[in-house]
Amino acid sequence: PDQLLFYCRPGFEHDMASEVTHWVDQLGWYGRAEYSSQEGFVRFVVDDVRPANELHRELRFERLVFARQSLVALPPLSLAREDRLSPIVEQVVSSGWSFDSIWHETPDTNDGKALAGLIKALTRPLESGLRKRGALRRKAAGRRLHLFWTDGDRVQLGMSFHGNRSELQGGIRRLRFPQAAPSRSTLKLEEAWHEFVPREEWSVRLAEGMQAADLGAAPGGWTWQLAKRGMHVFAIDNGPMSGDLMATGMVEHLREDGFIWEPPYRLDWLVCDIVDKPARVTAMVQRWLIRRWCREAVFNLKLPMRRRWEEVDRCLALLEKALHDAGARAELRCRHLYHDREEVTVHVRLLD
Ligand code: SAM
Repeated sequence: PDQLLFYCRPGFEHDMASEVTHWVDQLGWYGRAEYSSQEGFVRFVVDDVRPANELHRELRFERLVFARQSLVALPPLSLAREDRLSPIVEQVVSSGWSFDSIWHETPDTNDGKALAGLIKALTRPLESGLRKRGALRRKAAGRRLHLFWTDGDRVQLGMSFHGNRSELQGGIRRLRFPQAAPSRSTLKLEEAWHEFVPREEWSVRLAEGMQAADLGAAPGGWTWQLAKRGMHVFAIDNGPMSGDLMATGMVEHLREDGFIWEPPYRLDWLVCDIVDKPARVTAMVQRWLIRRWCREAVFNLKLPMRRRWEEVDRCLALLEKALHDAGARAELRCRHLYHDREEVTVHVRLLD
């Protein structure tokens, strides 16, 4: 294998490529990113005597912002319609790798969705073909084979490793919209929690009786998530909050400026979905964390600019440095979530 393959949201290929190129440089490897706009993936062709899976191991998935999935990949295949299976089986067998599961995936585009029927027809025969050759077996250290279909006759084979990948098909977390929530934005905070807070810790870190602030809260999608977990919420926004949400009695609505407002006492959570300059939002959250007005924060950085990765990197570096200089130990992560559009979501948790 001499390639890495990353899935991303269509339209964010350039950012994905900048991000991976940055890390590859830092890690002392060489190669080049290849992508086309709106295709929903980026290939990175590794130019090194060392195998690409070593680079992949050093490139931690949880540190990546724009990658929905990160794979070690084989060269893309062009298939003949009469026999799509044999070249796939041959490529897997000659790679020398074996797997304990197979996923068929496509780019997150309309063309990708149109391939569902073909994939369904190929799934069974391919599995039995690979099983016969020993490439698919019961236990293979959690290695997964990904067949990434970009067309009916074009597929790229990739592999993922336990502990360094998304466990979601296509790297996409589909969530059902809760009908009672005041806005679709609600899914961004819910997805952030799934992404950043391990499920087994929800009962302590997202617990009833906790106190939260939601800056830029109206009409209340994020506040609704906090209140649903039994938290008391200060909802800061000049705009109107949903009446049903206010009727729960869990929410105090204050028509104030989120950049200036200070909480009356220390809270558990700060969340912020204000549309403003990323650097301004970051500086505000930084102040909250350094003064320990909250223990955990989830906030969005809106990215209407062209060089989104550079902007995110700049903001996160400033935040990391400020926390470090203030002696605040923290866990910091940032992801371009499925429900994020031109924005990314940052999570910070103070550790002591
Ligand atoms: N998270 C919300 C939800 O789930 O319903 C949606 C938030 S909306 C994207 C951004 C909100 O930020 C708007 O309601 C706007 O009024 C508010 N906003 C903008 N600037 C603000 C500021 N300086 N202080 C407080 N709120 C602000």
